[in-house]
Amino acid sequence: MSKSSVIDVFLRVRPTKNPSNLFKLNKDEGTAEFTIPKNPDQGYINNQIEKHTFNFAGVFPTDTTQEEIFDKIAKDVVDSAIEGYNGTIFAYGQTGSGKTYSMTGNPEARSSAGIIPRTLYHIYDYARRESELIIDVTISYLEIYGGSGYDLLVADNRSRNLHDLPKVQAMATANGQTILQGLSLKKAQTEEDALNLLFIGEQNRVIAETPKNDASTRSHCIFIVILECRKPTSDVKTVSKLCLVDLSGSERIGKTGVEGILQREATGINLSLHFLELVIDCLNRQANGENIHIPYRDSLMTLVLKDSLGGNCKTRMIATMSSEPDDLPESICTCRFAGRVANIKNKVTRNEAVDPFIIIEKLKRENQQLKAELAMIKGQSIKDHLESYEIDECKKKVDEFLNSEDPAAILVVNDHLKMNECFFQLKHMLKNLNKKGSLQPVVSQPQNLTTNNTVELQQLNDEVLRLKQLIIQRDNEIMILLNLIQKGKGSQANQSLVLQGPISEQPEVQQANTSSILQPIEFPKQVEIDRQSQILTEKPAIKKQNFMQGSLDSEPMSQTTKNTTTAQLKELGGMLSEPINISNEQLLDRNSALEMFRKSYRKAQAQEDLKQELYDKMMTSKELGLFINNQRNVISQLKDKIEQTRKEQVLLGLVSSDPNQVSTEEEKLIAEYNKQKDIYKQSFDKLKQLKAEVERMSTQLKHSREKMQQDFEKWIDMMLKQRNLSMAATSVLSDFKNLSQKGGEDVNSMVQQFYKNKEICNQLLQK
Ligand code: ADP
Ligand code: MG
Repeated sequence: MSKSSVIDVFLRVRPTKNPSNLFKLNKDEGTAEFTIPKNPDQGYINNQIEKHTFNFAGVFPTDTTQEEIFDKIAKDVVDSAIEGYNGTIFAYGQTGSGKTYSMTGNPEARSSAGIIPRTLYHIYDYARRESELIIDVTISYLEIYGGSGYDLLVADNRSRNLHDLPKVQAMATANGQTILQGLSLKKAQTEEDALNLLFIGEQNRVIAETPKNDASTRSHCIFIVILECRKPTSDVKTVSKLCLVDLSGSERIGKTGVEGILQREATGINLSLHFLELVIDCLNRQANGENIHIPYRDSLMTLVLKDSLGGNCKTRMIATMSSEPDDLPESICTCRFAGRVANIKNKVTRNEAVDPFIIIEKLKRENQQLKAELAMIKGQSIKDHLESYEIDECKKKVDEFLNSEDPAAILVVNDHLKMNECFFQLKHMLKNLNKKGSLQPVVSQPQNLTTNNTVELQQLNDEVLRLKQLIIQRDNEIMILLNLIQKGKGSQANQSLVLQGPISEQPEVQQANTSSILQPIEFPKQVEIDRQSQILTEKPAIKKQNFMQGSLDSEPMSQTTKNTTTAQLKELGGMLSEPINISNEQLLDRNSALEMFRKSYRKAQAQEDLKQELYDKMMTSKELGLFINNQRNVISQLKDKIEQTRKEQVLLGLVSSDPNQVSTEEEKLIAEYNKQKDIYKQSFDKLKQLKAEVERMSTQLKHSREKMQQDFEKWIDMMLKQRNLSMAATSVLSDFKNLSQKGGEDVNSMVQQFYKNKEICNQLLQK
C-alpha cells in the first residue's frame, strides 16, 4: 500500500567567526528569521521586506552535533529503508555552508562522521542486533559533473583527472525502464567493506579549488545503498534504495569569482541545479492541481533523483547556511528553495518481492518429504537399516502407544523401516505376554481384513499417484524458477543500476534481449557541455558485439540437425592442428585413439609448455625450500654466536653487562644476523609467491586436461558416427551393384532393401 508523504526540510547553520545579528533561529518553532533593513542602497533583498520568516521541519543551530543531525534527520529514513522503503537525503546550500560536512564529515573520527558513514554504522549495527534479519548491502557512488556521470568506485585509480574515471551513461530499456550503465554495484558484506568503498569514492572525488573554499567539491555526489532484507523463514524480501546526495554549491556564478575553465565548469554545475529547481517548480505546480509535465529527463541529475522527488521515496533535505553578513543573501535563497521543496508530495510504497531462491529451497525440502512419504507408501526406504537411537525411539513410541489412555491414540512413524521395527516390538511383546498367559490372542476376522486390505490398497495406490504427480509438479516449478534466476543472473552481470520503478524488479527487467536494445538517454540542453568533456562510451558497442558472438555460438543449437553436424565438424577441425588418419581398429581402441588425438590436438603444445613451466617452478620451489631451511640454521647459529660472544666478553671484562653497550665484534655479528634475516625473509616471500603460482598453474593444467578429455570425447563420438555412416553407405552401394548384376531378379526385395539402408543412412546423419 502506498502512502503520501511530504519532503521534510531541515536547516543547519554552520559555525562562523562573525555571525550576523540580522539572523535568528527559533529551535522550538522550527523557524529561521532574517531582518533586513529597509535601505535601497544595500538592498540585495526586495526593500519592502523587513522581516522574512521561513518554516522548517527542524532547525539546527551552530552547536548541533553530527550525532544529533543523524538521529533527527536520517535515522528513521535508514530504518524505513531496512523495512523496504526507498529513501533520499540531500544537502543543499552555498559552497562552504557545510553540505559535505553534514553528508560525509570525517568518517575516520566517529564524532565528526557525517550522515553517510553513520548510515553504514547503523545498518550493520541493526544487522548485528537483529540476527533474525538477513541484510544484503550493495553500494554505488556516482559523481555528476558538468552533466556527465562518473563511477567513483574504481579502486587503484592512479589518474588525477575526473575524466579518467569510468563514465556512467543513462540508458532506456525497451520496456521504458531507465538504467545507469557503467556504474559499479559493489557488495559490502561487512561494515569495513562498506566504509572502505566510501573511502575509495572519497579519494576519487574531484577537488577543485575555488577562492571561497579550498576543499569544496563543485560536483554533485550521490552515495547509493541498496538494501535487500529478509527473514530466514520468509519467502518475501524487501529491496530498497537509499540515495545520500551532496549537491554542488547553490551560489550564482558571479559571486564565487571563479574564472576560465572553472567558470565553464561552474556553469555546467549550476545548469544541473537549474534543472533541479525547474523540476521542483513543476512539482510544486503539480501539487497545486496543475496538470504539468515534469522535465526529469532534461538532466542526469534529475533523472537519478526522479524517485526521490515526487516518486516512491521518503525524502529529506538539509538546507545548510552560514550566518556571516556576506552570506545572508545566498542563505535567504537557500531558505526560499527549501520552502518550495517542502511542498512536494511523494508516494511511498514498500518494495516487497518474492525471492525465488527461498521458494526453491522450500520446494526442495517439500519434495524430499514427499519422496520419503512416497517411498514409505511403496514400502521402500531411503535407508537400509536403523541406527540404535532410532530403534530406541521406536520402543518409546510403542510404549507410549500401549500405555496411552486415549482410545484414539495412534502410532505415527514416518519411515517404512521404523514401522517394521514398531511391529516387531509389538509382536515381541505379544509373544512374551502369550507365554505368560495373561493376554488373550487377538481374534482376527479374515473376511473383514481382506475387504479392508483391498480398500486400503486402493487408497494407497491413489495416494502414490497423487504424490507422484505432486513431485512432477514441484520439479516443474523448480525448473521455471531456476530459469527465471538464470535470466536474472545474466542481467546482474551487466552491472547497471535500475533507476525507476520498484528495484525489486531489477533482475527481471534486464533480460539479455532487452539489454541488447538499450538506448542512451541524451540530455538535450546539455549536449554542448557533454561534448566538451566527451569520453566515448564504448560499453554498449562491446556488449552488442559480445551478444552477436553469443548468438553465433549458440546458433547451432537452434538449427537443424544437419547444421549441427556441420558446426560440430567445424569445431572438431578447429581443435586439431592436422587431420588424423585413423584406421577402424585404432578408432575402436580408445587408448590408441586418445594417443593419436593428443598428437594432433592444437592445444597439446601449450599444455606441454605449461607442464614444463610447472615442473621448473616446482623444482625452484624445492631448491628455495632447502635454501630457506639452511638459512634458518645459519640465523640460529648466528644468534647463538652473538650470545656466546657477549658472555665471553662480559667474563673477560671487555664490555659491561649493560645490554646497550655493544662491542665492535658483536656489532659485526648483529649486522650479519640482520642481513641473513633479510635474505631469509626475501626468500620466504619468494617461496610464498612461487607456491601460489604453482597452485594456479596446477589448476590451469587440470582444467586444460579436462578440456582435452571433453574434446576427445566429442571427436571420437563424431568419428564413430562417421565410421558407421560410411559402412552403411558401402552397404547401399553394394545393394546397387547386386541389383544391377542380378538384372531384375528378385528386384522387389532388393529395392526394399535399398530404401531400408537409405533410411538408416538418413537416421545416422541426423544423429
Ligand atoms: P560545502 O560542502 O557546503 O561546500 P563543507 O562541508 O566543505 O562545505 O564545509 C566547509 C568547512 O566548514 C569545512 O572545513 C567543514 O569542516 C566546516 N564546517 C561546515 N559545517 C560545519 C559544522 N556544522 N561544524 C563544524 N565545522 C563545519
Ligand atoms: Mg562540499
